[in-house]
Amino acid sequence: MRCEFCGGETARRKVRKIHWFQRRLYLIDEVEAQVCQECGERYYHATILDAIDEALQLGNLIIKENFQVQVVAFQPVMA
Ligand SMILES: [Zn+2]
Repeated sequence: MRCEFCGGETARRKVRKIHWFQRRLYLIDEVEAQVCQECGERYYHATILDAIDEALQLGNLIIKENFQVQVVAFQPVMA
């Protein structure tokens, strides 16, 4: 397919997806996506996203690792 942002060609890849579900943040490995070869934009099929949500809902995924995430405000330093 063509990227809707830059018009580049996409290719099928397995990626690590940042995924929110029920106010919790997950990193999901091995998610199939179309990735733009030019700008890196990712496109996910709706059925894949639904399948991830369903698996999280059912607790059907293997937890590989847990770690803490910090949310910080970016404050650029003025030169
Ligand atoms: Zn692109």
